[in-house]
This record gives sequence, C-alpha cells and structure tokens, in this order.
Amino acid sequence: MTNYVDFHRRSIDDREGFWGEQAQLVHWHEQPTQVCDYSNPPFAKWFVGGKTNLCYNAVDRHLVDRPDQNALIFVSTETEQEKIYSFRDLHAEVQRMAAILQAQGVTKGDRVLIYMPMIPEAAFAMLACVRIGAIHSVVFGGFASHSLASRIDDSQPKVIVSADAGMRGGKVVPYKHLLDEAINLADNKPARVLMVDRGLAPFAKTDGRDIDYAELRAAHMDTVVPCEWVDATHPSYTLYTSGTTGKPKGVQRDTGGYTVALAASMKHIYMGEPGETYFSTSDIGWVVGHSYIIYGPLIGGMATIMYEGLPIRPDAGIWWSLVEKYKVTVMFSAPTAVRVLKKQDPAFLTKYDLSSLKALFLAGEPLDEPTAKWISEALGKPIVDNYWQTETGWPILAICNGVESAPSKFGSPGKAVYGYDVKLIDESTGEAITEANKKGVVVVEGPLPPGCLQTVWGDDKRFVSTYWTSFPSKQMYSTFDWGVRDEDGYYFILGRTDDVINVAGHRLGTREIEESISSHPAIAEVAVVGVADQLKGQVAMAFAVLKDASRAANADDARKLEAEVMKVVDDQLGAVARPARVRFVTVLPKTRSGKVLRRAIQAVCEGRDSGDLTTMEDPAALAQIKDLVTPA
Ligand code: AMP
Repeated sequence: MTNYVDFHRRSIDDREGFWGEQAQLVHWHEQPTQVCDYSNPPFAKWFVGGKTNLCYNAVDRHLVDRPDQNALIFVSTETEQEKIYSFRDLHAEVQRMAAILQAQGVTKGDRVLIYMPMIPEAAFAMLACVRIGAIHSVVFGGFASHSLASRIDDSQPKVIVSADAGMRGGKVVPYKHLLDEAINLADNKPARVLMVDRGLAPFAKTDGRDIDYAELRAAHMDTVVPCEWVDATHPSYTLYTSGTTGKPKGVQRDTGGYTVALAASMKHIYMGEPGETYFSTSDIGWVVGHSYIIYGPLIGGMATIMYEGLPIRPDAGIWWSLVEKYKVTVMFSAPTAVRVLKKQDPAFLTKYDLSSLKALFLAGEPLDEPTAKWISEALGKPIVDNYWQTETGWPILAICNGVESAPSKFGSPGKAVYGYDVKLIDESTGEAITEANKKGVVVVEGPLPPGCLQTVWGDDKRFVSTYWTSFPSKQMYSTFDWGVRDEDGYYFILGRTDDVINVAGHRLGTREIEESISSHPAIAEVAVVGVADQLKGQVAMAFAVLKDASRAANADDARKLEAEVMKVVDDQLGAVARPARVRFVTVLPKTRSGKVLRRAIQAVCEGRDSGDLTTMEDPAALAQIKDLVTPA
C-alpha cells in the first residue's frame, strides 16, 4: 500500500504527474493538453484542452459494462414509493428531460434553475443540463420566495424546473406558490417553468410560461440527445451559499476538474466500487447532494439511493433497513442526523443486517465526540469524519483509507486530503504556523485542487476579494474556519471566523436572517447569532430592538410579535432559517464605533465569559441579554 504522506506530498510537488494520472479515471472525448494552468492566480484552470461531459461519465459510460445494474434507487417514505432505475433507464429518462429542455431553447451555457424536492426528476434535470452543456443551479427546496428570487436574479435562468410539492413528516409542503411569488419578486423572469406534478398539491398555472413535464415527456419518449462535449473548464453548475454579506454567492464549478476530483475521491476516500450501493442522506439542494448523491457514486459506477423522508419515519430503523435491502456499502450522513437517531431506541441499529456496510462518513458540521463514539459503538463500523465546504465540492480534510488505512481520532476530520496544501495561518501576523496545537485560520495555498470553485458566478472580483485577500502576500484561500493541527498532522476544526452559522449541517448567514427580520415594520435593529445546541449543533438566536418598545410590553405581546417575526423569516427565507427565539431588547451591545458585538452576545447566550468589553458603548445592553437568556 502507498504511504499517505508521500501520496499527499506528490499531489502538491508533482501536480502535473499526480493529477494527470487521476485524470485517467474518467472518460475524455479529447485528452487535456495541460494539467493545470495557474498563470493567472488565484484562478486555476484544470485539464486545459480536454473535452468531456459530466453526464457521459455518470451515465453513458456505464451502458457498456452495466446497463441493467441499479443506478438510481428512489425511496420515499413520505409517498410510500420505491422506484429503481437501471443505467439504461436513467440514460433514457435523462435524454427525455434533455429533449424537453432543448425544446424550450436551452442550449450550452444557459442556466436552468432547479427548485425541487428529492424526486428522481430532480436528478434527471441535473444530469440533463450537464448533458447539453447547460448550467444548473439547484436551490434547496426548504428555501422560500426571497431566497429563491435572489438566486433567480443572480443566475438568470432560461427555464426553472420545479414540482407541485415536497413532503416532510407526512405533511405536504407546496412549492409552486413560493416559486410564483419568487418570480414576481425577481427582475429576471424565466421564459418557462417546467412543472412535475406529483398530484400532491393543486397549483395555479401561468399561461405561456408554465409547462407540464408528464405531457412533454410523453412527446419525447425516444428522442436521442447526444452529449455535448464541453471544455474541461466549462461551468457545470452554480450552487449558492451564504457568506458574511446578505447576498448569497454562486459557487461556480467546472466540468473536467470536478469529474476527476469526484472519481478520485470515490477511490481514495470513500472506497466505493462499481456495482455497489452508495447511500447519502443529504439533499440535492446542498453540495453533498450534488457530489455524493448524484455525480460521485454514478461516476464510480455505483447505484445511489435518493431518499425522501425523515430518519425516524416510519421508525428509526428506516435507514438501516435500506442498508440491508440494497446492500449499501458506503453511507454518508451528517452529525445532526446521528444525534436525532441517538435519541431513539438503539435496538433499531441491531435489527438489520448491516454486514455490507464498510463505513459511515459524516460531514457538514463538527462531529462531537459523544456522537461519534455512540454511533461507532452502535454500528461497529468505521466512522469517517470529513471536512469540506460548498466551495470545495469534495473533502479538504479526511482519512484517505483508500490510499493507506489510518486510525481516526475523535473530534478530528483527519489530515489534509491529497491536492490540498492546507496550512494554518496566524491571524495577526499572517504567517504559517508550524508548531503543533496552535490555533490558526485554516487556509489552502493556491492553486486549489481540481473540483473546487472556479470563481463566484458573474463576479470574479468577489471571488478574489472574499477568499483570497485575507493574506495578501500569499495566494491563500481562506476557509473561514479556525483550526489546530496536532503533532500527527490531524486537524481539529474550531468554528467559523465569520458570521456564518451551521444549523443541523445547513450553512446560514446571520446577515441574511437579520435582513429578513429587519423587513418587519416593527423592528428597528436586530442582531442574530449562532448559539450551541445539543441536537442541531447550533441554532440562530435573534435579539431585536423595536421601533416602539411598548409593542412587547408584556410576555403575551412579546410572544405574539415573536411569532410574527418568525413568520416573516419563514415566508422570505424558509423555515430552515427561522431563529429558535426572537427576543426583544431596548438596545444592542455595540462598540463605541457602532459595531454590534455579536461574539459577546454569543458568549453570553452560551454561558461563557464575554471577553474584553472595554470597547463596549453601553454595558447594560449585554446585561439585558444575559437576563433574558439565563434561566430564572
Ligand atoms: P457548507 O458549505 O454548507 O458545506 O459548510 C461548510 C462549513 O461547515 C465549513 O466551513 C465548516 O465550518 C463546517 N464543516 C463542514 N464539515 C465539517 C466537519 N467535518 N467538521 C467541522 N466543521 C465542518
């Protein structure tokens, strides 16, 4: 077996040789002529001169060796449906969807926004887009009209693909009215809205704009849509993520680098083999869903399970019953889901035959030691934490057991993954930290490896200024996470350096939530902070100053107003962004220069010392918050 230290070293020192070899894991219509063009840092162009297609690698390529093997296994415990598509079936469905999009005038480079629940048509739509060189932009189904409108305006899609509704916990969650409202709010209206009607929620149709998927599919049953061979650097998709400002960033991914990165990760990190089954419990609206529900497993010739439902319905054994039924070998979930399961009867974990399962991978938020220990003992399988971001598209830190097996350490996502020149930087000096166990900002020295963001959609300047200017003397990509590295090279992530919070593995910008709350007419000013939570990792807490303090004069009034404010957030951003509480104060703690002391508020909410407050304008402001959050 290869020595991992050497493997990693070579990926940095001999980038051309290393990635040139990894590139042979995928199909090229035309081979690249240059592995990496980094002549214009920090913009890295991978596999220049190469022509390929993401859909070809995920679907068509497998028609020779495994046409009748399971490719997409759809399971909905909400609608009680289970449907299996072989690679041959998937190929046919993707072409039908591609033909529908083409008939609406979608061509290479056009954007298609996908706002859908976890149904097979969402996967068809993603694959159909990349098949014809269109750029998809999936928006998480839990987002509401304002979030959706800002993404429509930024991506300017020609077509939006949506559905009547999703379902969650037995309840129908209608989508169409939110979409209609978003289109009303948006300046850039799509020409067409392609609707998949699941028969769950009746919806209004806009003549000339809304078209029906089932009808059009029937008209294109046998239409052949060849793959469009695109440059390796052609964008495959954009995916919006939160940052420090209220405006979400469109992370733009290429085609060739992403295909290679995923193919290599299936081998070196996830160790999934062709013919096996991969089960990621994420959602297509998030990066894990893109990389490891859809593209990664399919590129690797694996069947992938697409699951609509909760982890505890009909009971807490549902996921493990799927592992048994479909002989899942690789499973990917988030710590929050495990914490939910931890509250259930542990007997569910021993009820099913899990002998096929090789490992459970967890990512998206810090994996706390008690949760890691519990699941590792309960399952008796290796638990592999891995750390990454929407921006990177695949892990930055992990244990690459496919290269050389190594033990995991509780609380650590592992070591720097091959391709990533990870460093810790001292925030005050900007110098790299070489000694062990010293806290710094986790950065990656450029170029970023294949598969990572190429730029921020439509805004190269923002890409550079957001991620690359923190340490101007060096081309370093900042992750905006604090971390430490121990003497064995294992990293430990200590939380964000910015105002991004992580609720149940969902990344949210506190500024977006603040902007939404501020749109309620009664609110003068608000601060939102992330506060540690046993189940969700973090929850959002809002502290608002009212224009007229008498509106929250008594507890009943305050509760009523709190519910109103929460509804505003639900309607604009979606329930996923709803704060756990909205509390009313007369003043916010600020520095003398007027900056809200969010970290001090967070510390008080978590019962910690609020640190040095000598710059604080009005100490009573923090005392007010302390009184509110301290149990009587
Ligand atoms: P997202 O872009 O939504 O995937 O969120 C990325 C952020 O989630 C990272 O910058 C981290 O703050 C956090 N994160 C992701 N994975 C892990 C992990 N394994 N351990 C700790 N934090 C993580």
